[in-house]
Amino acid sequence: MTEVPMNPDVIELQERAKHFALNHRVEANNSGSVCGDGRFTHQQSMGFLRAFGGDEGFEAAILGAQNRAINEGKVIKKFTPEELDKIYAEKIKVMRGEESETSVHTDEHNQIGCGFMRLAMEGIHNHLTADDASRLHQAALARLNGKQTVLNGEHEELAVLYVQSDKYSVDSRDESTGEMFFVVDLQRSKQLIEQIVPLIGIEGLTADDVWREFVSQMQKTAQQLAGGKEIFELNYNDNSQAEENFNIKLLGQVPMPAV
Ligand SMILES: [Zn+2]
Repeated sequence: MTEVPMNPDVIELQERAKHFALNHRVEANNSGSVCGDGRFTHQQSMGFLRAFGGDEGFEAAILGAQNRAINEGKVIKKFTPEELDKIYAEKIKVMRGEESETSVHTDEHNQIGCGFMRLAMEGIHNHLTADDASRLHQAALARLNGKQTVLNGEHEELAVLYVQSDKYSVDSRDESTGEMFFVVDLQRSKQLIEQIVPLIGIEGLTADDVWREFVSQMQKTAQQLAGGKEIFELNYNDNSQAEENFNIKLLGQVPMPAV
């Protein structure tokens, strides 16, 4: 184990993140997934699974992993972005119920207001092309008849919170103080991938392949959106809000993007 050295500013930030995480803990709600963008309010996120891009992030990870496996000769069948979007939405209903819809968001400033999708469309990922990302997004929007969540305000996230829990998440924004954090539910993301990948059933493609691609895409996105900010890992060990049942650990700093 390597100890990350902490200067007084980081110690203060960790204290702030710890109080935020204890005060904004929310019960995990697996009936939906939304982006890790800190601007989501409680009403817009409701304990849903948080990952950059929300459902589009998981679709992008599956598509990227499929492309990689094809390059490596492990997979022959190829879903187009449109086909993948359709089957993902079908299988999500198997998991979350017939009424459930996948999530897409934007913001009040941009046509593509989701940082994850904007960056993916710029082609930052190794196994997902800009065209793949663009077609995936268009397919999701068409399927949802253009319906998307519109976030307001500016990005003012203080740090990145990686949540390791299957029972809790954390609301990313305090609407009275304006404090906000990026939130990614790592443990629940892994569970979703382990459930949906076999349901989609791309022969030769494992949940591990998709998880590896997901982590790579999350890291690249964080690097662009949150470069230089601290990453804290949160563990909620118990169903009480007592401090002794909660752990926060500095994982390090998101590397700055290459210039
Ligand atoms: Zn987003």
